[in-house]
Amino acid sequence: MGFDLKTALQQRKADNLYRSRITIAGPQQPQVVVDGKPMLAFCSNDYLGLANHPDVIASFQQAANDYGVGGGASHLIIGHSRAHHQLEEELAAFTGRPRALLFSTGYMANMGAISALLGKNDGVFQDRLNHASLLDAGLLSGAKFQRFLHCDLASLEQKLSRSSANRKLVVTDGVFSMDGGIAPLKEYAAVAKKYDAWLMVDDAHGFGAVGSGGRGVTDLFNFGISEVPVLMGTLGKAFGTAGAFIAGSEELIETLIQFARTYVYTTAMPPAVAEATRTSLQILHKDDWRREHLQALINRFRSGCEQLGLKLMPSSTPIQPIVVGDTARALQMSRQLEEQGILVTAIRPPTVPKGSSRLRVTLTAAHTEAHVDQLLLALEKVVREDAVSKKSLREEMV
Ligand SMILES: *Cc1c(COP(=O)(O)O)cnc(C)c1O
Repeated sequence: MGFDLKTALQQRKADNLYRSRITIAGPQQPQVVVDGKPMLAFCSNDYLGLANHPDVIASFQQAANDYGVGGGASHLIIGHSRAHHQLEEELAAFTGRPRALLFSTGYMANMGAISALLGKNDGVFQDRLNHASLLDAGLLSGAKFQRFLHCDLASLEQKLSRSSANRKLVVTDGVFSMDGGIAPLKEYAAVAKKYDAWLMVDDAHGFGAVGSGGRGVTDLFNFGISEVPVLMGTLGKAFGTAGAFIAGSEELIETLIQFARTYVYTTAMPPAVAEATRTSLQILHKDDWRREHLQALINRFRSGCEQLGLKLMPSSTPIQPIVVGDTARALQMSRQLEEQGILVTAIRPPTVPKGSSRLRVTLTAAHTEAHVDQLLLALEKVVREDAVSKKSLREEMV
């Protein structure tokens, strides 16, 4: 029999769930070249436009001269450089936590942290729309894995109140990656405290984009380590580089250094990435105009969509999905935009729940108002074509 891979691949195609990659030439920026064709993209997580910032590039180049390219070994052997160490200290100061620890990716940070903190007799409570890396981490940890309804305090409390787990960890995205909404952290922190649980927030999409000085969602709630003992951020989104970190108490970070397997058994990120990130952290923190410009674009996009009768999610962040529902229709709309030179990804199950396929529009500080208007114009055409085809369908039926 062997491995019949073909059947599953064909089924995925039949379900409109088959994914394929596009190849871009050049850096992350609104105007990209895909297969030789210039396109205007609204799908990057480079929210502040730092992935291609000249100062970040210069730091990366200088550090490559100073440190070479490879990380060489794991942090615990001989891979922990001054660049990594300084970035950790700066991230700790930025997040207002005693310490921070670098990981090579966000996926690994979540895997490492959750499985270092939890084991067989413990319980993990996750929002059902949490990022895949959090869900996978919960499963890997061996703790009793429970999902609560999206942003539903009653559902969380019900599960916590019935739990006899030793350690209890409540885990949530800060900004939900496919919706753009912000988690109700005030309520979560209160209920976690009531049941003697810890709260972990993955703020991959909040850092840089929200909070004063880009300090993320915990800043919106004024939450320190007593409310959010485990705070995770990624560096590949608004920071524009690569990697991730966990910030928290001295004991938390020492625990991760000892027990997080994705920290211990992997090569340190290239020191030049850490140096580039030190520069991007400074820009991210001080350039308030990037957040202000981004907010103006978000408002412009939302009011434009409202005029077109398009359904948006209640999001104040750069993630502005247009909910379509039907997967085939979402794909078709994405193609209709592509024909007009606009790149917006259709997000389908299993990334989002069935029946909620969407166009995930993301805005960045590198976009201009003219770019947003171009997107709105293209969407208007898609909406108009849809109305025409529905009308002719109705006429055929009578
Ligand atoms: C992107 C993302 C991650 C993974 O981070 P990488 O550094 O890309 O591996 C984790 N959590 C959330 C919420 C994310 O959006």
